[in-house]
Amino acid sequence: MTIRTKDASKQYLADKAIGKTKESETRKEILAVENKIRNNKTETAAVVKDGKKLIDKSEGKANEVSFTNAECQKMKGAVLTHNHPSGRTFSDADLITTVKWDLKEIRAAHSKGVYSIKQVGGATKSASLFPKDFEANRKKELEKNNATFFKNQDKYNKGKLSYDDFNKIIDKLNGNIEKSQDQWLMKNSKKYGYEYTKEKLGGK
Ligand SMILES: [Zn+2]
Repeated sequence: MTIRTKDASKQYLADKAIGKTKESETRKEILAVENKIRNNKTETAAVVKDGKKLIDKSEGKANEVSFTNAECQKMKGAVLTHNHPSGRTFSDADLITTVKWDLKEIRAAHSKGVYSIKQVGGATKSASLFPKDFEANRKKELEKNNATFFKNQDKYNKGKLSYDDFNKIIDKLNGNIEKSQDQWLMKNSKKYGYEYTKEKLGGK
């Protein structure tokens, strides 16, 4: 589609209209990918820019999907979506990729919805600190849960705790860390020029 006009203000509006169209084409493509992958048992991913799918990673391992350097070079200003079979929020690696390769948005789809982190500007802190501080929060939360973990591991090793009960405790501790990471993103993303949102399936 080409829109030509000599009137500068009209050209500006025409460019804006094209920008909007590309944005909505990108979103359409992203939602189509997410509907296909959200219930996958392995991690899969796609990168979309200006309504076009630039990278399609439909083969993933259980908890990771990897990109070549050449693929990463294409990510600037693009939207990356992938699925999280665990239903958990973003990982340290997700944030590192987002900032290092200057993604416009990263999304993680799961059976009940989508997590999103997108650039919004207005940063008061350097974006490069975003993944570092996120990781630091996880480590801090991990420390807090360590004592409970080791106490129960000891009980399990001595036969005073069943395998199932030990696993339930581990799940609970992982849940604590997940909750803390989710809350940290909600509270802090804006400082680094990003917005963290959670969309529920069905638009609620
Ligand atoms: Zn991820």
